[in-house]
Amino acid sequence: MFLTISTTGSAQRPATDLGHLLHKHPEKAQAFSTSYGTAHVLYPEADAERCTAALLLEVDAVALVRRRKGKGRGGAPDAALAQYVNDRPYAASSLLAVALGSVFSSAMRGVCTARPELPGTPRPLRIEVPALPARGGADLVRRLFEPLGWTVTAEPVPLDTEFPEWGDSRYIRLTLLAADLTLAEALRHLYVLLPVLDDAKHYWVSPDEVDKLLRVGDGWLAAHPERELITRRYLSHRWSLTRQANERLELVRLAEADDSEVEDLDNAVAQEAEADDEEKPTPLAVRRREAILGVLRASGAARVLDLGCGQGQLVQALLKDPAFTEIVGVDVSMRALTIASRRLKLDRMGERQASRVTLLQGSLAYTDKRLKGYDAAVLSEVIEHLDLPRLPALEYAVFGSARPRTVCVTTPNVEYNVRWESLPAGHARHGDHRFEWTREEFRGWARTVAERHGYAVEFLPVGPDDPEVGPPTQMAVFRLGTPKEAKAA
Ligand code: SAH
Repeated sequence: MFLTISTTGSAQRPATDLGHLLHKHPEKAQAFSTSYGTAHVLYPEADAERCTAALLLEVDAVALVRRRKGKGRGGAPDAALAQYVNDRPYAASSLLAVALGSVFSSAMRGVCTARPELPGTPRPLRIEVPALPARGGADLVRRLFEPLGWTVTAEPVPLDTEFPEWGDSRYIRLTLLAADLTLAEALRHLYVLLPVLDDAKHYWVSPDEVDKLLRVGDGWLAAHPERELITRRYLSHRWSLTRQANERLELVRLAEADDSEVEDLDNAVAQEAEADDEEKPTPLAVRRREAILGVLRASGAARVLDLGCGQGQLVQALLKDPAFTEIVGVDVSMRALTIASRRLKLDRMGERQASRVTLLQGSLAYTDKRLKGYDAAVLSEVIEHLDLPRLPALEYAVFGSARPRTVCVTTPNVEYNVRWESLPAGHARHGDHRFEWTREEFRGWARTVAERHGYAVEFLPVGPDDPEVGPPTQMAVFRLGTPKEAKAA
């Protein structure tokens, strides 16, 4: 199994930077043992103009079969010969992808400590895979790679060059060219799409493969036109995992499509009540954060969850107050979390500060053990991003399973929309809002939730409290019943 990655360069931007990016020195051939055999990395050419790294995987077919047997799968004695005599040793496949992911793991994550500016910069790339098993043929290869910015040459490999009448094999000689991709992006594309084309994963697909797929697919998979096929094949046709992956990716896609709107909304200002204020009016998002901080401080919380933390503005504000000793931001969108981590400068933060903050990718529509045992949780402008039928799942995950002592929920007050100058009548404030509630509706929901899960709830306005239509943002603060109340209940 064989794959090459090449780049071109100049004296100013030498092609040999590839060696830094891959964390593998061009002057030595290196070997790494993996669970399936030995992976070799070598550079057939390496100068300022051109540099090529080759990854060659020598598969140990015997170890592969033993491994499978160890896992209790595929070990039927009568199938023995096909397991040893097959195309595994020379065709690129999911094994090569696994080797790629382990040998070039830092490069795939876009990390280069020696030259931190390199990974973020696109460079001309050429990738060649001489024998790629491709179920779906050259056409599918194009449909998978072209939307990602690759120029694709996919030539079917004849079964036997001496006997053209035998027709083509199921292998493709693949060449990919791109000018605007980073190496990390390229490696992530290959990591997912090689096994997708192979469509015969050699290892058992466990539920954490969904997390892995979302991580590696960050920034390109959610909006890919072949997303369904990619997730289905990547997850070995396991229907429940595929569905879960697609639900999460769909949320990511919507969040990505609406990011710019989120920013606009964030900066929106509740105007009228401030008309005669001398000072610049405070954006609603700032008021919301202040109100939330006020509630959290008053509750005496030290360990806080920001559920649906988005781009991390509240996490940043919480970090400034030493009263909050542990802050966890959770979001379904990897892209939002990437922006949050950049905003917080997580990679440059001192150890002490860094130990106070964690960002987690996860969906609030599923219970999550990691979220148990916190003092307080915030859901700031999040519930309205879920389809109403999914809301009970979030309710259970937060109030039934995670059960923080205090929960602070904010959501737009739809009645206030008539006061927004720029909002056409009857429109939601944000393209991704699945619903917007009146004060009555929000209170009804909050009271039911409180009762069902043993919380007391109180309501607070955020922004100018209009005598007719109420405040622009409504807030509910839930407190877990005190032991005395619980006994009384
Ligand atoms: N809390 C932030 C962001 C609000 S935007 C603020 O107040 O500014 C809504 C956020 O909820 C988005 O970042 C979106 O990705 C996230 N989100 C939507 N559905 C989610 C789900 N099911 N699980 C986790 N996060 C979700």
